[in-house]
Amino acid sequence: MSVPLNERLYRTEAVVLSRMDYGEADRILTVYTPHRGKLRVIAKGVRRPNSRLGPHLEYFTRCQLMLARGRELDTVTGAETLDYHRRLRTDLDAYGHASHMVELLLRLTEDREENEAAYSLLTASLRLLDDGVDAFAVTRHFELALLGLLGYKPELYRCVACTEDLTAVPNALSNRQGGLLCPLCRGTDGSSFPLSVNAQKYLRTLDRHGLGAAAKLRLDADLRNELEGAVGGYLRHLAERDLVSLKVWHSLAQGG
Ligand SMILES: [Zn+2]
Repeated sequence: MSVPLNERLYRTEAVVLSRMDYGEADRILTVYTPHRGKLRVIAKGVRRPNSRLGPHLEYFTRCQLMLARGRELDTVTGAETLDYHRRLRTDLDAYGHASHMVELLLRLTEDREENEAAYSLLTASLRLLDDGVDAFAVTRHFELALLGLLGYKPELYRCVACTEDLTAVPNALSNRQGGLLCPLCRGTDGSSFPLSVNAQKYLRTLDRHGLGAAAKLRLDADLRNELEGAVGGYLRHLAERDLVSLKVWHSLAQGG
């Protein structure tokens, strides 16, 4: 957690989201932290073979960082691994899903915007992947929960146009309107597409009862593809928008 030591130095837990080589031996890292949100920091000399910091700053590592405030970027002065997440480096499937989750945080969150719940969601999800829990379920849960935490959760229970309760038919998902449309309102968004009853049921189960309940539902390959495509399309649509204005619109539309 984040504890101020003096005006220049501070300590924080962090997960390494991305890295970029810089200069001769440095790296610029983007990390996610519980109280400072997404942060870009510099680790000097970290690419030298004898660097003490290097081994603690790999992708997906959860670590304790000591940082010194800088004019542009804060500098890593100390690092200690808390969770190395070995499977995320050795299992291609786990690696792919972890990369996807990290990419979503990079694209959907603002720099230095605290969201402790999003940090907890990230660390819990990485741990589950590392423990070998079904990557599909862990990732869909991460996506939906992150959307909720950032204020972009798709409406799954009432039609986003007429606000009637939805029935068990293939309602259509509208990325533009932020949720499901009943069959009568489907025409209000020509780019919406029908979601099967089972796909809707899976998303509602994840939303209402969490990962444990959703993991008990049987999913065949078609349903997995449908869900991955639908949620992925929704996320892509969001990431391509002006997120701040969309957030305002969303909270107005939901009366929140
Ligand atoms: Zn409707």
